[in-house]
Amino acid sequence: MSFNVSCTVNVSVEELSVNSLEKAALDGAREAGRRLLESLLAVVEMRVREGRRCACGGRLESRGRVERKLMSLVGEIKFSRQKLQCMSCGGEVVPLDEAIGLRPRSRVTVGVREKALWLATEMAYEGASLGLKKVAGIEVSAETIKHLVEEEGGEVVEEMEEERRRVWEEGEAGAGGEGKRRVFVEVDGTGINDRARRGWFEAKVGVIFSEVREVSKDRVEIMDKRTYATMEGVGAFGENFVIEAHKYGVFNSQEVIFVSDGASWCHKLREDYFPGSIYVLDFWHLARNIRVSLGVEHREMAGRLIYLASRGQTEQMRRHLELLCSSSRDPTFRARIAELWGYIESNEEGIKNAARLDFYGSGPIEKAVDVTICRRFKRRGMSWYVRKAYPLLGLRLLKINEEWEKYWRKKGLVTV
Ligand SMILES: [Zn+2]
Repeated sequence: MSFNVSCTVNVSVEELSVNSLEKAALDGAREAGRRLLESLLAVVEMRVREGRRCACGGRLESRGRVERKLMSLVGEIKFSRQKLQCMSCGGEVVPLDEAIGLRPRSRVTVGVREKALWLATEMAYEGASLGLKKVAGIEVSAETIKHLVEEEGGEVVEEMEEERRRVWEEGEAGAGGEGKRRVFVEVDGTGINDRARRGWFEAKVGVIFSEVREVSKDRVEIMDKRTYATMEGVGAFGENFVIEAHKYGVFNSQEVIFVSDGASWCHKLREDYFPGSIYVLDFWHLARNIRVSLGVEHREMAGRLIYLASRGQTEQMRRHLELLCSSSRDPTFRARIAELWGYIESNEEGIKNAARLDFYGSGPIEKAVDVTICRRFKRRGMSWYVRKAYPLLGLRLLKINEEWEKYWRKKGLVTV
């Protein structure tokens, strides 16, 4: 169907500039766009009404016209459409809304929804609202964007949960991804300020990758990374992360390297789901632990211990720590050293493996935690309700895993 609308713009000849012309052209285009969209809706409406019957087979009768306002990519439009009621079952339908897939109470088109959510995954809702207005002239309040996140993100999260039920309760795992020679599996957690209680809740992040390309002497680029994160407990994290690992092909791969900071939930995750993997303790966490435990007065010794750790010489580390302990009379210091040794001992295998492998390190997981969580959920002064943060995280993951466009295409949206 083709359709024509015309528009008129007025430009003052006294104030000619590229800006005044550009502004006039844009205003005209938007005005024409709104009229075009409204006219197209009117044409579609005429068509879908003809000869309609209710799903139950009953005859539909008019209940008058109802006006609806909608924020679209060309600005706010107003249109009216027929409401019909079934003479047999009493059900009401608005044929136009049904035909074009408009959600019953939505105030924005799916095009606006996608753009608003794209911004909301990057910045605070207030900023997303202002940005949308500034760049595209689309007015959607921060409150509405927040609501859109809950709705759309809630669906994304629910989809993940359904997949988890299908796999773990009904055993429908599907075929796993193609195996690789070596894959890295890294997990970590970070605290987010909890708005409901004065404290924090943990977000857990896992990344899987197999190809690493050296960009420069100290920098590597991860080629095929998959990120998963959740604000739910370790149980849900494990089950969902394993699904990601299965799809990635981790369980068909020759060698799996499991990197963590040595937290007990990470050990358990590895034992439960990645038992054949090679454990590597994240070196950055170990070095920080050594520095913090020894304090500034033993800075040199800390440096020596970190060096020994990098060579996997845990036996020598133990001797140094024993000497350090016996030379101190401070009971709190001695306790700290004992605790540090406990950490090193329980991660001995991970320290030795880290030294043995030519590649180890926290770079990828640190970066994933930063990108996935910190940049959006841990900015200065931010605090969150879990139930509001989780849907946003679901949307953010679509973007991080480069599935955003695919997701919206599935929703019938033509994106550019
Ligand atoms: Zn009916």
